[in-house]
Amino acid sequence: MIWYPYEQMKTMSPPYKIIHAEGVYLYTKDKKLIDSISSWWSVIHGYQHPVLNQAIQTQLAKFAHVMLGSLTHEPIEKLADKLQNWLPGDLDYCFFSDSGSVAVEVALKMALQYYTNQNDTNRTMILALENAYHGDTFKTMEVGDDDDYHFICNAYGKSKSVIHIPTQIEALENAFAKYHTKLNCLIVEPLLQAAGGFRMYDISFLKRARELCNQYGVLLIFDEVATGFGRTGNRFVADCVLPDILVLGKALTGGYIGHAVTVANHKVYQGFYDDDSSHALMHGPTFMGNALACSVALQSITLFEQQNYMSKIWEIETILHREMDSFSDPRIKEIRILGACICIEVYHADILKGYQQFAYEHGVFSRPFLKYLYAMVPYIIEEHELVTILHTMKAWFQQT
Ligand SMILES: *Cc1c(COP(=O)(O)O)cnc(C)c1O
Repeated sequence: MIWYPYEQMKTMSPPYKIIHAEGVYLYTKDKKLIDSISSWWSVIHGYQHPVLNQAIQTQLAKFAHVMLGSLTHEPIEKLADKLQNWLPGDLDYCFFSDSGSVAVEVALKMALQYYTNQNDTNRTMILALENAYHGDTFKTMEVGDDDDYHFICNAYGKSKSVIHIPTQIEALENAFAKYHTKLNCLIVEPLLQAAGGFRMYDISFLKRARELCNQYGVLLIFDEVATGFGRTGNRFVADCVLPDILVLGKALTGGYIGHAVTVANHKVYQGFYDDDSSHALMHGPTFMGNALACSVALQSITLFEQQNYMSKIWEIETILHREMDSFSDPRIKEIRILGACICIEVYHADILKGYQQFAYEHGVFSRPFLKYLYAMVPYIIEEHELVTILHTMKAWFQQT
């Protein structure tokens, strides 16, 4: 018996059974569906990309996995080198793990230990954003702020070490003024808060955050598990404002295998690097640096570079605006577009009830939740396919 994610098993509608997937399409026994979700935003090159399939097969002929304790291998060395060169600034030190949630946990652990390694045990408070989503493990639930996902957390009471603020510069300045000597780090999903409702905010907030973090010696963590690899129209938001620690996941492997990385800058790495063995980072997921995952991640990045994905993303954003800017409906609160992401926020969740099946009948796979009808498409999508997704959204409001 399968226990499905985020579902009340008693009332959930049966999931669609996928028997084949290729390009932007998911195939059931009798339907071909355009995937508007990219399997939780990870499958940026589409399904069954020949280059990515080949990367896995080539590595599989050598070995699938060896642990990273006392061992290393070429795929992880090449991927770490590539990330070091490709990521901005001195984000050079790659700690791999098996999921985005774990990579966020690692980032928070790094930030905490960075200060305790210097005998500073006062800096234990974490500044985070309202409506944040950073994963489903315990510490990520604490830094997250989403009662719809994590109301279970309330059973333990709110964490005293986490403060949540809105994405307003004034709130940011007030929080630093009030807590600065106790603040350990500020963690954000930069520019786009994804699972918490596809909320978008201005770069000026992040620029001010960087200044305040410098001024008060607070570490800045970007959780780019959702925003990384072009989703916001920036390669990484870290290209615009440089964090101390960057977390990548989801699209890292082109959505082929669950893998993630926590990348530290020089300053953070130096906080661990000395003769005292107790200053080491004590973490080591069993499947970190999986050779198949590293091989496919390296090829995914190569494709991203060689095939000029940033211009593909810009074209997607242009089409989103062209099709949606003049569209409105009294039931729609707001339509938000950024890069290759669109969200239609409605006033009540009931308004979207039945949409998934409606989309299915129109040849689109969609998965609205709460008040959010959204698309995060694979970047290889053709114009007519993207237009079909958007026309289906509009048709839902126009039918009644
Ligand atoms: C999905 C997501 C995570 C969690 O990643 P998993 O691989 O599901 O553990 C963390 N942060 C953000 C911003 C995400 O979108």
